[in-house]
Amino acid sequence: MQARRGRRVPAPVRIVVPLPLALRSANAWLFPGRQPALVDCGIGTPEGHAALMAGLSAAGVRPGDVRLLVTHGHIDHAGNAAALQRQGAVLRAPREETLFVETFRRDAARRHAAFARALAQHGCPPEAVAAAQARAERIDTWMEDTAIVEDLRDGDRVLLGDTEATAHHTPGHTPGSTMYLTADNDLLTGDTLLEHITSNAIELVDRDHGRYAQYLRSLDGLRRFVGCRALPGHHDAFQVTDALLDGHVGKHQRRSAKVLSHLDRPKTAWQLLPEVLPHLAHDQVFLGMCEVVGHLHHLEIEGKAKAIDAGGVRTFVRH
Ligand SMILES: [Zn+2]
Repeated sequence: MQARRGRRVPAPVRIVVPLPLALRSANAWLFPGRQPALVDCGIGTPEGHAALMAGLSAAGVRPGDVRLLVTHGHIDHAGNAAALQRQGAVLRAPREETLFVETFRRDAARRHAAFARALAQHGCPPEAVAAAQARAERIDTWMEDTAIVEDLRDGDRVLLGDTEATAHHTPGHTPGSTMYLTADNDLLTGDTLLEHITSNAIELVDRDHGRYAQYLRSLDGLRRFVGCRALPGHHDAFQVTDALLDGHVGKHQRRSAKVLSHLDRPKTAWQLLPEVLPHLAHDQVFLGMCEVVGHLHHLEIEGKAKAIDAGGVRTFVRH
């Protein structure tokens, strides 16, 4: 850990932003100081926006003075970026996330159509596809297209309050997912590393084939952060330990083995969904399908399963 050279560095402030989603809340981490900075900014619902503004106000920080950095472009992390920007805040984002954030709403129809096609291809019945699409269209209203002022790349140095930090590109959850490691060994993990939840690589359309495999490589690379304090995108701070990483890797491996064990005959991802994730809530079908498809693609990459396309539907079978 780097010495603070006698300076008193203000501790990062956790602003809890409520979510109308299964995770319940997201964190915006405020670093007060000579260059006030926010890492992530929560979802852009009226309640989310109000919670963020109340948190900034309680810390005595004006929204327009903030430099906003996002760990990735998802709505529960970048949803208030446009509102902050209108008040004068400067937005920085990992360069692989910029197109997503800048064209989120403009690109929505194409994105939803691509997801709907992929869900149908993986065996989802039309009513399940329509329900997932309706839910996505509602969720999409909680973020606006937002111009990124500065791109961030792996290794870039940034100032968070009074603390220097380094950007670490850890792709998988999204293509540009980035962690920020401060000189005080605080690690802003976004959704790449959570304490009790294994991350989902949102791998569904063929274009994203291999993203889950990429996530697993990133997870493996997180060993270099053992000993840091994680300030995650959701829920409480925690220590990064070998045991925690082992636990996450083990969960991924067990789920992968479970998917493979159910491939006793050709099955679609939709058929596997209740076998692999029996307790899935009905509004979590999209994320559940991404989870199963991610595992199936990874089993393909490992040579343990193969895909069979017939009649517009894709099944998988043990190889
Ligand atoms: Zn996310």
